[in-house]
Amino acid sequence: MSYKTILSGSLYQESHSFNPIPTGRDQFQIAFGQEALDAYRGTRSVLGGVIDTAEAAGFSVIVPASFRAFPSGIVDDAVYAEFKAAMLDAARHGGFDAIVLALHGAMVTTAHDDPEGDLIRSLRDIVGPTVPITAGLDLHAHVTPYTLAACDFLTGYKTNPHADMAETGERAMRGALAMLAGRFEPVCVSVHFPMLTLGQDRTDEEPLMGLHARVRALVETSGLFDISIFNVQQFLDVAHMGQTVIAYGNGQAEPAWDAAHEIADALWAARDELVGVLPDIHTCLTRAAEPGRTRPVVIGDQGDRVAAGGPGDSTFVLNTLLADFPALRAALPIRDAASVRRCRDAEIGDMVELSIGGRYSTETPPVSAACRLLARGSNVDVVIKGPAMGGVSVATGPYAVVQLGQVRIALTELPLTYLDPRFYEALGIPVAEQQVVVARSGYHFTLNYADSGDCMTCDTVGMTAYRPAEQPFTVARPFYPVDKIAYQPVTAVRRRRLPGG
Ligand SMILES: [Zn+2]
Repeated sequence: MSYKTILSGSLYQESHSFNPIPTGRDQFQIAFGQEALDAYRGTRSVLGGVIDTAEAAGFSVIVPASFRAFPSGIVDDAVYAEFKAAMLDAARHGGFDAIVLALHGAMVTTAHDDPEGDLIRSLRDIVGPTVPITAGLDLHAHVTPYTLAACDFLTGYKTNPHADMAETGERAMRGALAMLAGRFEPVCVSVHFPMLTLGQDRTDEEPLMGLHARVRALVETSGLFDISIFNVQQFLDVAHMGQTVIAYGNGQAEPAWDAAHEIADALWAARDELVGVLPDIHTCLTRAAEPGRTRPVVIGDQGDRVAAGGPGDSTFVLNTLLADFPALRAALPIRDAASVRRCRDAEIGDMVELSIGGRYSTETPPVSAACRLLARGSNVDVVIKGPAMGGVSVATGPYAVVQLGQVRIALTELPLTYLDPRFYEALGIPVAEQQVVVARSGYHFTLNYADSGDCMTCDTVGMTAYRPAEQPFTVARPFYPVDKIAYQPVTAVRRRRLPGG
């Protein structure tokens, strides 16, 4: 029986175990049914890739729900339960040939350490063993045995910064289509070991660049369907945290076994090279102050990256600018609901007494000053230029823009990544007129600001700095390099149950 229909759905949030701010429903962009389908069709997202590939192949797509939030603290389980109920209802209703999910893969809720695994397992229980279930995941996904046991095909981004989200959705979709056509009999070999990559982990630099080149060569020469290297979100204090390499053979286990172990061994061998060293704030701001510069220096605030689950209210760069580089024209974001509310009753041009930021990023003190109100509003929809997440629309929520000295401060109630110049442009802050622009991202912003400025990821203090020995990990330990453990990879093999098999 063929319906030529795919059940999809997207659950997308990256959790930070040590961010004390819970992520509630109000932080999610939620769409159901046709609205979700229309919002993501043609976008450079995983769900966009799933929809476009399915429709190009003559399949229609059902999207019961899309729940997307930027990285932050642990998610209220009621939000996940709402998403799961919508997906399970659609699965029980039937009328589709396969399930192809668009997931981040590193969400934690107040009740689940592995909600994606719980979702896939619950869907499997409804549809039975032979309906193909595939998923496209972030390269920083937390891939557990629970997920692998219930899923026929998982594929992750091959790039960090992430430029292949849509291609990952396309691969997840092609895996399902190939299974439906009888051309793909997935044999999954996964190799897991507890280790973190800590900053030297871009795929356009060594050591990961060479490792991904080897992955492509292995897929081309060994008859493998796909290999993914999951480097894991670095701030997850949960079981099975660490690196997972997954290779998919087509009917045969041996080539996948060899490839997964070769890549996992190479990743472990590179463990100390995967720890990076970043320039400090004075180096970055001194460069911005060089005479004759025509483009801003765009600083990735490594210690408070909303893109990695940071709270978004660090004042580290702001305080350094005010104290040591007061002449630099700069634009930077601070998540500060109280300051946004104080600005709500003021007139444009008024001076407003504010105490800005530092509420959650307690290692950086608030900045207390009279600031000039330049703009305010209840929301702007930012359509990201890309390439990372190009075409995706993000609501800023309530905001105010104030001027303090030469610094324009974008205040929002929500934590936002500013990984794209459109965030500033939407708030009326011209990026090209600044000498310094701050993004709350360590990787992706370098893609989206490439035409606008010179990007530097800066070693700053905060919750998303790579200092795991100073963070209160318990469940995830022991892991390298905090614990000087030996290499003891855990291997699992899974074959798909074939219809009638
Ligand atoms: Zn990621």
